[in-house]
Amino acid sequence: MADIDPSAFGARAESMIHILGSVSAEPKRLVRRFLSPEHRRAADIVASWMQEEGLSVSEDALGTVRGHWPGSGAMRLLIGSHIDTVVDAGMFDGPFGVIAGILAAGHFARAKNRLPFGIDVLAFGDEEGSRFPATLASSTACAGIFNMASLDLADRDGETLAQAIAHYGKSVADIPAAAYPRDQAAAYVEVHIEQGPVLEHRNQPLGVVTSIAGQTYLNVELFGEAGHAGTVPMLLRRDALAGAAEIILLAEKLARDSKGDVVATVGHLDITAKASNVVAGHVVLIADIRSGSESARAQFVERFKTEMRAIAERRYLGLLVTTTREVPTTPCDPRLQEGFAAALGGQPVKLASGAGHDGTAMAKLCPIGMLFVRCRGGISHNPAEYASPADMGLAVAALIRFIEGFKP
Ligand SMILES: [Zn+2]
Repeated sequence: MADIDPSAFGARAESMIHILGSVSAEPKRLVRRFLSPEHRRAADIVASWMQEEGLSVSEDALGTVRGHWPGSGAMRLLIGSHIDTVVDAGMFDGPFGVIAGILAAGHFARAKNRLPFGIDVLAFGDEEGSRFPATLASSTACAGIFNMASLDLADRDGETLAQAIAHYGKSVADIPAAAYPRDQAAAYVEVHIEQGPVLEHRNQPLGVVTSIAGQTYLNVELFGEAGHAGTVPMLLRRDALAGAAEIILLAEKLARDSKGDVVATVGHLDITAKASNVVAGHVVLIADIRSGSESARAQFVERFKTEMRAIAERRYLGLLVTTTREVPTTPCDPRLQEGFAAALGGQPVKLASGAGHDGTAMAKLCPIGMLFVRCRGGISHNPAEYASPADMGLAVAALIRFIEGFKP
């Protein structure tokens, strides 16, 4: 069997990252949207790498590039990530997982090492949702849970997903064929940059993911009374914005009190009639609440709602809370977590993923597992995103050892 040289893998991964990182819709920043000409170019590069490694390449109706190394049995280990990006993205979020999969599968293919199971490396194209107002079209198709109603969703230019698929040279009629048969999909695993600071803080290059966090979006509307900033006495005011300020700090306090179980963010605040000399009469905010634990998230939401009502009552404000998004926690399979832990040689850092991933969709098909790679400053969705060649090399080596120990 071929030797595993992490530093050689790291150097190759870094050069591949830079090649994909130069494929963008704009010269000054990285933008690669689903089913765009840049997606096409990136997919062609990925396909050529797969071929060089000895994998046979195909592409499904959603443009997912698949590199296959056959095994002696019918079961397949699926390894994937995405090659689409957010607007003004970094180079690592997504592409590194695809590259790690290609290099790891190539390790076996180059050595003509047939395993008891096949390996499929999947390069998905719709994880970030930066084109259509929906996401995970590619991985839901592979998982056999593609939402046909999403075909009518339009991008900012009015092109629907169905039209974009046709422009990409694919056929909507082929979507059902993209689904893996359940009895062939042994597991789905993904290597990804952490997108958070935990591994850096713990001084560890790699960590095993325990779950992909569930998420609740609460749309919070506060109704007060607009008034003149100079004439309405303080005691007679019903200031919706001051109430919103209390609610924002409440979200922060409750999340801090959860000791790391829950993170909560208000990143959207809308003052309906915005003026510096008017007491705000109507304000809308959105609270984004995430946790690796279903019960912790549910408890947080309940307590948050109760205390928001108390704030609204005390301030004589109307309050309307609507849940606009509810994504359950996706647990990573314990056996796959053990497999990654063994590949890392013992007692690795375990952590939940606060960000969503293709694994959320793939979990509907088969058990999923994820390996996180340290990224500098925990920064992602930003051109400053960075993972070192040394860490990337260790990740590829760990993925290879994981595959060696994998039993379908
Ligand atoms: Zn990603």
